Amino acid sequence: MPPLPKPTTSTVQAIYRVYEEAAESWDSLGISVGEANGACDRAIWYSFRWATPLESYNGKQLRLFDTGNREEDRLVDDLRRIGVEVYGQQDRIRLVGGHVRGKCDGKGFGVPEAPKTEHLFEFKSSNAKNMRQIAKLGCEKAKPLHYGQCQLGMHAFGLSRCLYLVACKDTDDLYGERIEYDLEFCLRLLARLERIVSEQSPPSRISDKPDWFECKLCKHYAACHEDQMPRVTCRSCLHSTPIMDGNAGWDCSRWNKPVSFDEQKAACPAHLFIPALVPGEQIDVDEENETITYRLRAGGLWVDGATTA
Ligand code: SF4
Ligand code: SF4
Repeated sequence: MPPLPKPTTSTVQAIYRVYEEAAESWDSLGISVGEANGACDRAIWYSFRWATPLESYNGKQLRLFDTGNREEDRLVDDLRRIGVEVYGQQDRIRLVGGHVRGKCDGKGFGVPEAPKTEHLFEFKSSNAKNMRQIAKLGCEKAKPLHYGQCQLGMHAFGLSRCLYLVACKDTDDLYGERIEYDLEFCLRLLARLERIVSEQSPPSRISDKPDWFECKLCKHYAACHEDQMPRVTCRSCLHSTPIMDGNAGWDCSRWNKPVSFDEQKAACPAHLFIPALVPGEQIDVDEENETITYRLRAGGLWVDGATTA
């Protein structure tokens, strides 16, 4: 019999607990630039529509995120020590009506390879295995999400170069790559994101096979392949529409008014699910009573709106 793992000490448990108690779960206002170049349209749409439960993290994972944030500060210090001017940390990225959003890690001049060219900075930390892949294949192939983030950042700030700097958490090795702005890539990605934002129903899956490798790792798996009901928020309601006001706004056609972020999270008693999110077949609509009847795949009839109207 293999030896039992040693129990986590009370001290370590207490430290992790502090991270967990301080953690906040939040819905993102829009599509993060760091997820914008994801492989699956439907996964991006589910996140944008808050269709699935918020993720929660344990203390160890939260501490690891904190390590990544600290590494960013350290990389800024490292760059300054070699004479690079760094500014603009936390400058906002707003694209596609404000629905695609993020912050940059910094911008600056004085990068040794091209000191007179203003660069965007994108900092990451990685384990040794991923670091080897990045060094072997480069950012675009090894880390498409990072690559999309770099490209959209350059697009948003009108820059032509990005310095992508990765620190290895296991060995402290650094990897640096200068990425050139690719207008065609950005226009294609922005057109795709605009389509996803405007879709009123879930876009096609990347694969209909539940054992597809990307699906097995996807946080939306239960909603996508296992008939999990979506969350009740304005974003899963058929009356809601994202608007291209530049400020990530949403409108409600039921009440004929804009809905604030807090209102979206709370929803209202007139909420009706977007039919394609319900795991069943729509068989009746009662406009007067504002209900929709479904035959659920799990069996039985279900009337949306009947309990809340
Ligand atoms: S489970 Fe697969 S198809 Fe569904 S959203 Fe995730 S990646 Fe896309
Ligand atoms: S009907 Fe209610 S839940 Fe639906 S979009 Fe309007 S305010 Fe939100």
